[in-house]
Amino acid sequence: MNLPENLPKAELHLHIEGTLEPELAFALAARNGVDLPFADTHELREAYRFGDLQSFLDLYYALMAVLRTADDFTELADAYLARAAAQGVRHAEVFFDPQAHTARGVPVGTVVEGLARALERAEERHGVTTRLIMCFLRDLPAESAMETLESVRPYLRHITGVGLDSAEVGHPPAKFREVYEAAGAMGLRKVAHAGEEGPPAYVREALDVLGVERVDHGLRAMEDPELVERLVRERVPLTLCPLSNVRLRAVDVLEDHPLRAMMDAGLMVTVNSDDPAYFGGYVGETFHAVREALGLTPDDLRRLARNSFEAAFLDDDEALRARYLAEVDAYTFD
Ligand SMILES: [Zn+2]
Repeated sequence: MNLPENLPKAELHLHIEGTLEPELAFALAARNGVDLPFADTHELREAYRFGDLQSFLDLYYALMAVLRTADDFTELADAYLARAAAQGVRHAEVFFDPQAHTARGVPVGTVVEGLARALERAEERHGVTTRLIMCFLRDLPAESAMETLESVRPYLRHITGVGLDSAEVGHPPAKFREVYEAAGAMGLRKVAHAGEEGPPAYVREALDVLGVERVDHGLRAMEDPELVERLVRERVPLTLCPLSNVRLRAVDVLEDHPLRAMMDAGLMVTVNSDDPAYFGGYVGETFHAVREALGLTPDDLRRLARNSFEAAFLDDDEALRARYLAEVDAYTFD
């Protein structure tokens, strides 16, 4: 049966660390001899029902302790790709946070090679093409981001781009100007989280100072009509994550989410899952939820899916992009 939410799509805003389900967390903890402060998966599942950003971040970083070896990262990514494929994802651009792992003593090469192994066999195993994007933690100093960028030189063949994530307010994009210049010189594509909790000015900075090609979230751009006009004119993609916005209280309830208004304004928006193990759903479930809450039509869903492929870093394979877009058009809804 062709469920509307399972139409072919690309996922462009997905943190691989945010796909760690309680069952896998316990399995890896046992394998690696890591003690988790939870009795069982049930108790951990309860902890996933956090109420605010800080308790989410505390849990998020605490659970990363179970990820130690390249095999752990391969298993994590493989589990995500299998789930995503079952929900219609045909192309995934996966974020990871190298600093969250190197700070725990896991070498960057272990992380990249473990993830790359899963990503590079994903087309054969799951019918999903992939790209890997390394994100800098913006609440750490720019020097740390620069060192991280330098440290991945031996692994550049696996990495398509750079991004910027974690606590936004107080850490404007301009802090990372030199890092993004250096990333550009290394041939990397550029995205950044901006305008999730930070002001519209951060979205402008991400575009003008960092030269990003896509803005992750960008919700608060809606407060600035001139900025909206520019984003429409320049067709800058905004990778929205509606379930994440509700869980982290950027919007109160899904019915209040500006997704519909952003589509009506002519913005190039996509729908994504962010940290799906923590925020109540993968991208298919997210499509389902926004469709119900905002009354999206099949044509709206098709437009979101087309946007996702148009915004994807597929410039090196336009034939593939065209094939994916044709799949969207050919998808029939039951
Ligand atoms: Zn994110």
